[in-house]
Amino acid sequence: MVLEIDDRRLVTEDQPLDPAAGEHEHHCDWLGDRVVLMQEPERYINHRCEPNAYVDTTPDGTRRVVAYRQIWPGEEITCDYCIDGDGDTVWRCSCGHPDCRQDHTADFFNLPDHKLAEYIPLLSPWFVQRHRQRLEEVRRDLRDRGMEVQDPSRPPDTA
Ligand SMILES: [Zn+2]
Repeated sequence: MVLEIDDRRLVTEDQPLDPAAGEHEHHCDWLGDRVVLMQEPERYINHRCEPNAYVDTTPDGTRRVVAYRQIWPGEEITCDYCIDGDGDTVWRCSCGHPDCRQDHTADFFNLPDHKLAEYIPLLSPWFVQRHRQRLEEVRRDLRDRGMEVQDPSRPPDTA
């Protein structure tokens, strides 16, 4: 495990962002039915198209950043923002990886096929629940074309 994510600061109508206190929308994480203001250090985790970490959810709902592959001393922790990515935000990536997707949207379903297959088991339970039907269609389609796709992680209430 790299770190446990502090999800306590919810952004709601009653508790909106306070820019004077350094609270900004680009530090928010949209988790389906709730918006969380990311704390330090997790808010500084950058995107990389071939990341070394991802967010895992324990059966009790705690989110943790965990290693996706070997992480070497001094190496920057990175996640792929398209995992659990919703919406049509477009950004130009300059992560420098040879397989960088460059201009791409945050939408998980816009990923190339091999990344869809690779990331489906890493999706968060809320994302799997919200997009259950579409994920089923994607998995069927990938399998029909001979790709190997694992099951998505199960939501905590059925684990
Ligand atoms: Zn990139």
